Amino acid sequence: MPDHLSPQQRHANMAAIHAKDTKPEVMVRKYLWHQGFRYRLNHRRLPGKPDIVLLRYHTCIFVNGCFWHGHNVAVDGPDADIANSECCKIPKSNRPFWVAKIRRNRQRDEEVRKKLADMGWFCITVWECDLKPQRREQTLQALVYSLSRIMLRLHAKPAALRPEEEHLTMAAEEETEYRQ
Ligand SMILES: [Zn+2]
Repeated sequence: MPDHLSPQQRHANMAAIHAKDTKPEVMVRKYLWHQGFRYRLNHRRLPGKPDIVLLRYHTCIFVNGCFWHGHNVAVDGPDADIANSECCKIPKSNRPFWVAKIRRNRQRDEEVRKKLADMGWFCITVWECDLKPQRREQTLQALVYSLSRIMLRLHAKPAALRPEEEHLTMAAEEETEYRQ
């Protein structure tokens, strides 16, 4: 990851951030690319075919649509129904169908994340609503920050840790988990 961006790179970055009508996944990809990250897309051999795979970072990134993945809805309770969240509004007509579908998707997401974690992969979920223009830049910067913390964690040698490094290592864990 470059510490300093040339004016051209910076311009490309901003163009990626402000691009209109771009699919959320493409937005994230373009941003990472211009930051110097290299990745694979939809890695077939990994559970859940992650949208973006950064091999050097042992990290899978999922860019999730808020509706299909039931962002912020509580589906784990015993109730058959689930409540709408601000960014996941379930249609009134044929509601049981949508509730079942979203519930399945959420369960599958969880299984995939668990499998990947068991295989030693970090998982980061970027939500569509966090890529709205007013939040986009902050989200993408936070993503890059999470990746740099993951890199530190990958290279940390526990016995040789200094306290401040230990702190950063712990931050990496929190950063990746708070996005799920
Ligand atoms: Zn959302």
